[in-house]
Amino acid sequence: MSDCIFCKIADKQIPAAVVYEDGDMLCFKDIQPAAPVHLLLIPKKHIDSLAHVQAEDGGLMAKMMLKVPEIAEANGLTHGFKTQINTGKGGGQEVFHLHIHILGRPA
Ligand code: 5GP
Ligand code: ZN
Repeated sequence: MSDCIFCKIADKQIPAAVVYEDGDMLCFKDIQPAAPVHLLLIPKKHIDSLAHVQAEDGGLMAKMMLKVPEIAEANGLTHGFKTQINTGKGGGQEVFHLHIHILGRPA
């Protein structure tokens, strides 16, 4: 999606404070943090929202969910963290590229 801001971040066309990257996903700091640690984990593949995930994306979704605790701990959230996925306008989603918010306060 050429006009998607998170695709542009994944393509390095727009800078972001990246804390984790592999072939499938990217995690970076939220530009307007709502907590001392506020990260966004995105698939590199453009998916509009959680409501647009297809069965073929199941492996990717599992990889992302398994990576969340590792990323949280590596960013100081050793006592726990919150995750949030806003879905659709009614769910408060503003950027229509699937992302998992990871929020918390370092111990
Ligand atoms: P949503 O409401 O869609 O779940 O959350 C979108 C999040 O993306 C917001 O917390 C917002 O601060 C963050 N955000 C929007 N644009 C940018 C950007 O250009 N860079 C970064 N790092 N975060 C962004
Ligand atoms: Zn996108």
